Amino acid sequence: MVKADIGLANWFMRRVAQTPQRPALSFDGTTRSYAEMGDAISRLASALRAGGVCRGDRVAYLGLNNPVYFEVMFAAARLGAIFVPLNFRLTGAELDYIINDAGVHTLVVDAMHRPVIDSVRERLCCRRFLSADAAADGWMALADFVGDAPPLAQGEATDEDDVAVIMYTSGTTGRPKGAMLTHGNFWWANINGALGADVSENDITLVMAPLFHIGGLNVTPLSCWQKGGHVVLHRAFDPARFIADVKSYRVTTSFAVPAMLLFIAQQPDFAEADLSSIRVIMCGGAPVPEPLLRLYAARGIPLNQGYGLTETAPSGSYLGPEFALAKLGSAGKPMFFVDLKIVGDDGRTPLGPNERGEVLMRGPNIMRGYWNKPEATAAAIDAEGWFHSGDIGYLDDDGFLYICDRLKDMIISGGENIYPAEVEAVLYDHPAIAEVAIFGEPSEKWGESVTAVAALKPGASLDLETLRAWATERLARYKLPTRLEIVTALPRNPAGKVLKFELRDRFR
Ligand code: AMP
Repeated sequence: MVKADIGLANWFMRRVAQTPQRPALSFDGTTRSYAEMGDAISRLASALRAGGVCRGDRVAYLGLNNPVYFEVMFAAARLGAIFVPLNFRLTGAELDYIINDAGVHTLVVDAMHRPVIDSVRERLCCRRFLSADAAADGWMALADFVGDAPPLAQGEATDEDDVAVIMYTSGTTGRPKGAMLTHGNFWWANINGALGADVSENDITLVMAPLFHIGGLNVTPLSCWQKGGHVVLHRAFDPARFIADVKSYRVTTSFAVPAMLLFIAQQPDFAEADLSSIRVIMCGGAPVPEPLLRLYAARGIPLNQGYGLTETAPSGSYLGPEFALAKLGSAGKPMFFVDLKIVGDDGRTPLGPNERGEVLMRGPNIMRGYWNKPEATAAAIDAEGWFHSGDIGYLDDDGFLYICDRLKDMIISGGENIYPAEVEAVLYDHPAIAEVAIFGEPSEKWGESVTAVAALKPGASLDLETLRAWATERLARYKLPTRLEIVTALPRNPAGKVLKFELRDRFR
């Protein structure tokens, strides 16, 4: 039997061959057909090959959403190279670490983010720096790089276990880790439509979540293209534009985190706007609060809620709109191809209904591991292939999953993950701080916000604004504390571990 090449490039180029004239991507008022996208991808792939990019090399993109983002990803895939999307909210120091950890060969950056790269450029391992926009000092324009390169005639074949994308996600150890997502992960996560939405070629999906995150990159655009649909791409999330473009493109699906749903619902014209084309909005990252569910239900907009992680590409489970109120707060049932179980403290023994434990998942959507981190991989994926999510949850009597807590200390603010260990490591360097701990506090707007509790060195003083101003060079804005409490000493257990629950109880 011939094994199908289900790699990103192969299925996309098959779509190009089958429906060349159908609209594939609209951005800033311009629509590209599948044929036009395919041509841009093939020319870029041949330029990258001529520029020395080989199978397995890493090609990274830093910038806001843009058609070039996808072109770079698919072009890399055509060469069997690996795409690394970078979070544009990170500082130079954070990007320096990630780019060198991934060993990026070619880096493509938009005009807005060139300065942050320039600030650390001499420390980066990249062999080529390309500007997604016009040329600039030290930056060749991508268009000039491609020049009149002919379309790549023959791409590299890919196996489903080959790595397609390395997506960085922070780790409890403090440093971000690269989740290696394979071509198979993307294919299987989308084969039934991401998050349970039955996508077809008639779907028009509006993409407004950042493409450096798995929710933006995989949940709707790739599942839509896999079926031959049309993607409307926004540079960044803009609730007013969302409402306007739903109407003008007759958008049928989208992906949002609850904070985005809230901002859209707060638009003055939300109640009267023509949103009738929307078939379903997929949301994830956190349960959608009941008032928002009701608000969207009243507007006739069904919400499919999903649970997953970068490491699960991200489809783990989903809850259809028919259960949204009956199973309020639930993340639904596992996706068709995903096995899911709850285990006890030993990380192995399965627990019964309504018993809380760690959520484990196994399936073709689980990452291959963390880039160059075999120990972290072994800690995350056990010998039987179960991925340990670090989330605490339970299954009810009907098999619906509820996520209640996190084993890992993570804070999620506006859809971005914040790992306390990483932030604390930076704050410890502040000259006034003797010891510090951070934790998440519920926030109506962002889901959670960052609170820091610090004990100061003798005679030192510190306020929130001073701390934020000091940390701003080293930590992305969304990781900065929004509240600072000063204590004489942090509560610790006999082993010296900070008792975060005590801090939470005291300051929440
Ligand atoms: P990320 O890797 O950025 O996609 O973040 C994954 C984390 O987001 C998970 O480990 C969960 O803690 C959280 N998460 C994702 N979806 C949900 C959900 N539906 N309900 C509760 N928490 C969620």
